[in-house]
Amino acid sequence: MNRVFAITNQKGGVGKTTTCVNLSASLAATKKSVLLVDLDPQGNATMGSGVSKNDLEISVYDVLVTSVDTSEAIVTTEGGYDVLPANGDLTAAEVQLLEFDNREMRLRKALKRVKDNYDYILIDCPPSLNMLTVNALTACDGVIIPMQCEYYALEGLSALLSTIEQIQGYTNPKLYIEGILRTMYDPRNSLTNDVSAQLSHHFGERLYRTCIPRNVRLAEAPSHGLPVLAYDRQSKGAIAYLALAAEMQRRHVAASPVEAEVG
Ligand code: ADP
Ligand code: MG
Repeated sequence: MNRVFAITNQKGGVGKTTTCVNLSASLAATKKSVLLVDLDPQGNATMGSGVSKNDLEISVYDVLVTSVDTSEAIVTTEGGYDVLPANGDLTAAEVQLLEFDNREMRLRKALKRVKDNYDYILIDCPPSLNMLTVNALTACDGVIIPMQCEYYALEGLSALLSTIEQIQGYTNPKLYIEGILRTMYDPRNSLTNDVSAQLSHHFGERLYRTCIPRNVRLAEAPSHGLPVLAYDRQSKGAIAYLALAAEMQRRHVAASPVEAEVG
């Protein structure tokens, strides 16, 4: 059974794109077919996957706004996964989408046509709760929230949770929180441990046991257009994202034993 996850947090710089790229590559390394949807006009996930955002003839913008066939825009990457790429054109989509009826449904409709080709679809969201993010939350089964364990992180989280609740009551009643991911994790910092304990208390099993450490290789890899697994597979960052991919898949088996047997 395939799954669509939105990687979201309206805060910038928390590791959404890093998680999208490296989780995609790690799932691909375990022989899963993966599509990464770049829904941020900055196109960082596109570039970080080795696809030049400035040379795109067709991008996710065309798919959302001009109804170009989704498969025409998809590019295969060296990381072993596919990308539905984005660039600055997507900035205009935010306004142009408002002209459509069912404007929240555009991405869901676009992904329906390719969904069966993939085990996982991961959507990289922009750092805001705008119409693009609403499209992502409408198109996905679950949400993965990367966060840094710092004081203000929790404050931002409540705005995100209330948006998720609104979407549940509006376009996607089955939307759920797939997982909370601690990124740039530094256990030597006492505030990190406090926030971590609060997250554990609040989210219980929804909090991934895998933490992504602060690791310079993860920051370097995008400038080479590679996931960290292809850049330095021995690095702590690469190992952590492989562990996350494994944890994610174990959870699914545990959550749906019957499907796991027949599938
Ligand atoms: P977002 O997509 O949420 O804005 P990014 O994934 O782009 O966040 O990460 C923000 C910055 O932090 C980037 O420069 C990225 O390379 C760096 N970064 C992300 N995760 C890590 C990590 N675990 N260790 C070190 N640097 C990281
Ligand atoms: Mg990003």
